[in-house]
Amino acid sequence: MLVMMKVSATATEVEAVCETISKLGFRPHPMPGAQRTAIGITGNQGPVEGSGIEEMPGVAEVISVSKPYKLVSRDMKAESTIVRFAGTDVTIGGKELAVIAGPCAVENRDQLLRVAERVAKSGARFLRGGAYKPRTSPYAFQGLGEEGLKILAEARECFGLLIVTEAIDETSLALVDQYADMIQIGARNMQNFALLRCAGRAKKPVLLKRGLSATLEEFLMAAEYVMSEGNYNVVLCERGVRTFADHTRNTLDLSIVPAVQRLSHLPIIVDPSHGTGKRHKVPPLSRAAVAVGADGLIVEVHHCPEQALSDGAQSIYPDQLDELMAQIRLIASAVGRDVALPREQQALAGRA
Ligand code: PEP
Ligand code: MN
Repeated sequence: MLVMMKVSATATEVEAVCETISKLGFRPHPMPGAQRTAIGITGNQGPVEGSGIEEMPGVAEVISVSKPYKLVSRDMKAESTIVRFAGTDVTIGGKELAVIAGPCAVENRDQLLRVAERVAKSGARFLRGGAYKPRTSPYAFQGLGEEGLKILAEARECFGLLIVTEAIDETSLALVDQYADMIQIGARNMQNFALLRCAGRAKKPVLLKRGLSATLEEFLMAAEYVMSEGNYNVVLCERGVRTFADHTRNTLDLSIVPAVQRLSHLPIIVDPSHGTGKRHKVPPLSRAAVAVGADGLIVEVHHCPEQALSDGAQSIYPDQLDELMAQIRLIASAVGRDVALPREQQALAGRA
């Protein structure tokens, strides 16, 4: 159910409706829009009959939502969500495309700081790097854990980048929420519903990657789990799905970008690294992702991919990141978006 408030509704009227919903034993999710506020109701199995909400002051109408996802839906919020990062002017879903770059895993302090310096120089605003790695083999490098989070936090201090890193269970999620700026939920955990609920109770925005064989509806329902717990700052990420194709690690499904944008107000970014598995495919698919209208990219970068402890074959070199940033600046302008300038030019533009 969805309560649409009138354009003229006051904050007190919105509050009174939320209170009534809570008293009925359901959960209200007020979402202020550009025009008016919508209040989603979750926890109910069907229509909320005889509650009198329709007659309350400030209420325009009560709509029954037929789709299984409610809070992620454009029915709930017509305008696109812009995720903001506290204390900065950085956004995901706004005019500026978000570029998240960095190694697959935090391997050691020297490696991370070296890559972070180049990521910052390129103009990207976010640094990625896994401290907890979900690996196919239990014998493969599993990540540095909290030590890795501390190194990421140091890189944020040194280079002014926002940190995006993966949580794989409830314990790591609490730590990632504490150290990082954005919590990544990986493809393998897209349907770990307990973890999704946990992310929904966290403070930081969530980057939710598409599961290895998830349909669009399953993907949106995973985001719904996070939002149903009250965390509305969710960014979706297409990272390729498993198909019969063997020329590529996964099949990057760029068609999901406009499909998501039609159904949901949430931002969606693209991961051409896991989507393709091969370095030479990363720049072309990144360019295509920007052209298709994605809100950003997450790209693996390593200063010495030959020695990377994970995903070296799909990690681009720092020089390639610079070149890619220059290319997507041009493509972004053709689709009405911006990409931040390289750091040096940002400083000059700031002084001008
Ligand atoms: C990653 O980003 O390093 C990662 C493991 O991604 P995915 O969950 O998409 O495989
Ligand atoms: Mn990786």
